Amino acid sequence: MPYLRLAIPSPLRRLFDYLPPQACDSAALIPGVRVQVPFGRREVTGVLIEVAESTEVPPDKLKSAIAVLDTAPPMPGSILKLARWAGNYYQHPLGDALSQALPVLLRKGEPCEYAHQHLWRATADADIAQLGKTAARQRELLLLLQEHPRGISEDAIRAEGGQTSLLKKLTEKNLAESFIHKPNTDHHSDQPLHEVPLTLNKEQQQAVSAITATKGFKPFLLQGVTGSGKTEVYLQAIEHFVRQGKQALILVPEIGLTPQTVARFKARFNLPVMVLHSNLTDRQRLDVWLQAREGVARIIIGTRSAIFTPLLNPGIIFIDEEHDTSFKQQDGFRYNARDLAVMRGNFEQIPVVLGTATPAIESLYNAQQGRYQWLKLNQRAGNALPPTFELLDIRQLPLADGLSTPLIQQIKSHLQQGTQVLIFLNRRGFAPTLMCHDCGWLADCRRCDAHMTLHRKPYHLHCHHCDSQRPVPVICDHCGSTELKPVGAGTERTEEALQKLFPEFPVIRVDRDTTQRKNAMQHIMDRVHQGLPCILIGTQMLAKGHHFPKVTLVAILNADSGLFSADFRGMERTAQLILQVAGRAGRADHPGKVVMQTHHADHPTITSLVSEGYQAFAEQELSQRISAQLPPSMHCAMFRAEASHQGVAERFLRKLRTLLEEDILQPQGVQWIGPLPSPMEKRAGLFRAQLVLQSRDRKALHQQLHSLISAVESDPDARKVRWSVDVDPVDMF
Ligand code: ADP
Ligand code: ZN
Ligand code: ZN
Repeated sequence: MPYLRLAIPSPLRRLFDYLPPQACDSAALIPGVRVQVPFGRREVTGVLIEVAESTEVPPDKLKSAIAVLDTAPPMPGSILKLARWAGNYYQHPLGDALSQALPVLLRKGEPCEYAHQHLWRATADADIAQLGKTAARQRELLLLLQEHPRGISEDAIRAEGGQTSLLKKLTEKNLAESFIHKPNTDHHSDQPLHEVPLTLNKEQQQAVSAITATKGFKPFLLQGVTGSGKTEVYLQAIEHFVRQGKQALILVPEIGLTPQTVARFKARFNLPVMVLHSNLTDRQRLDVWLQAREGVARIIIGTRSAIFTPLLNPGIIFIDEEHDTSFKQQDGFRYNARDLAVMRGNFEQIPVVLGTATPAIESLYNAQQGRYQWLKLNQRAGNALPPTFELLDIRQLPLADGLSTPLIQQIKSHLQQGTQVLIFLNRRGFAPTLMCHDCGWLADCRRCDAHMTLHRKPYHLHCHHCDSQRPVPVICDHCGSTELKPVGAGTERTEEALQKLFPEFPVIRVDRDTTQRKNAMQHIMDRVHQGLPCILIGTQMLAKGHHFPKVTLVAILNADSGLFSADFRGMERTAQLILQVAGRAGRADHPGKVVMQTHHADHPTITSLVSEGYQAFAEQELSQRISAQLPPSMHCAMFRAEASHQGVAERFLRKLRTLLEEDILQPQGVQWIGPLPSPMEKRAGLFRAQLVLQSRDRKALHQQLHSLISAVESDPDARKVRWSVDVDPVDMF
């Protein structure tokens, strides 16, 4: 009798054997099909890995599967391979890795088919006279149906004010009927473009030629200063592949997926461009996924998880803003979609382009080592000139709500010239914290090693790490004084100050608090694009993907944040953010200026960034990392643990270290650091610790991780903590 060996979404790193369901056609048992099985007290959806001839599970423990859900595997072989590879590489349980590579509805065991969208219409011989005068609502509904002879969905009926509960009555009277509408899956077009492409400059031309000349797999790093026309390179390279009938996949950062970005692709291509954004329902996601798998969707734009979108005719993959950390999933299945894209390109033998103005130090290293072909765009496209930088030394200057007087002067002069000003401050809320003027007490979070942020609208204290909130105290917790003062400035406070300073100009704040409502961002952008002088103040939500042609002054209020971070990537992040923000200045015909307020105007990193640019900074940073034996010169993995009592997590990790120390089979060249308490030890009421493993030899590191994890899985102490492993971590917290 054959046994089904399944990958099942669970924390356990092993496969599970089942008996085939009763009345099962053995021809349907193709690896990759989904199988519904009992698992503990639940029913779950697993993926068939193999049909085995024998099993080690004793016969009385062996359960029967409930049903085989598919006649063919939903994931094509290449995606199955990618997800298995990723599970293995990131040391994540295979069942969960495979499950996460599937759209949510397929994880839940729903059929792998299109939403056969149910529509309603009036029957051909429906006569309104059949309805009595008293049935006013039914009459209305029937009229509505008659206005839509090609069918209308229940959602649309409700939106029109119709009562869907009455559809049944109309059906009984043979006045209405429902039918199934299949999306049009055969979209052919001889003319793939809507608009004529721009004439490329020489650098762009060289980049497009290099990419389109690729046969098979090749990774590229496309490094182009902001405004150099990287997107135009993407568009023209994509054109080459879609003309051959192939598909393109474009991954963008979470907050980079703006309507503006999508609009550029839709304006260019007369082909189905489909977007996987977070507002889609699970049903809509499955439909896009299926259309990609069947080759109907020709250009697919999505965030991190879109890396698992199957393509019938894969042509090329782009990672836009490749340095962005949102490509790395930070919990559960901790994969990096950028790195998986390169692996996928290798499996599917297609080019992969990583585009950015500010490459991650890892990518720069890969380009320097020749692993990625390096393409550079050093000029801004069109007539746009690069912005000029000014370091504004604020050491002796008084700051009013985060603003120095020379900066206020400059803001004024730009507004008076009729242009727009963008002010960047990476702290939302009114003030980073509240302090007692008499004793120095600070409003700390009770569940985290962190201060609570003061918010004005509504008035409360808010921890940005664990989300806990409490009323603002009237007297000091410690000494009873009433002299409580906000310390420092957040976007709310600076917004207020700017409104007072410039009452005649609109001040528009863009941060998580002002953009929560649906379409809020779109409204803000519409206002800005009217082009009238205004002040934009916001967090990094302003930094990415947006195009502000009328902004001529960009001010960075606290350029030093991140300079002294506990994370060795703090400096890299700061530099990338500064240049991203700076790139918003002077993108059209107006020259731009960037003013950076700093307390460290002579810090070598800041000065080299400003005077020599990102490339010089990054090379310096890379050589420091190499000499300090940090990634990317070393491969790195991190065990994290957390527990509700101090010391427990650290004790658990110390046990791991003992295993490392005692392992006589220990691969050569694996080093460890820790365990140490995490830089923010307490968060959301849990005490956290970490243990870092490093090696120059990737294989040795993985071998060691594998054996440690097996040991942990059989250790009962492991249940007393929450632990996880993070391969190639992007942050050290
Ligand atoms: P990036 O993505 O590198 O920041 P974009 O692709 O957004 O740059 O291009 C910046 C601006 O330059 C856009 O308005 C774009 O239309 C324009 N542009 C790009 N390439 C050209 C070109 N070859 N000629 C004229 N304008 C161009
Ligand atoms: Zn006090
Ligand atoms: Zn907190």
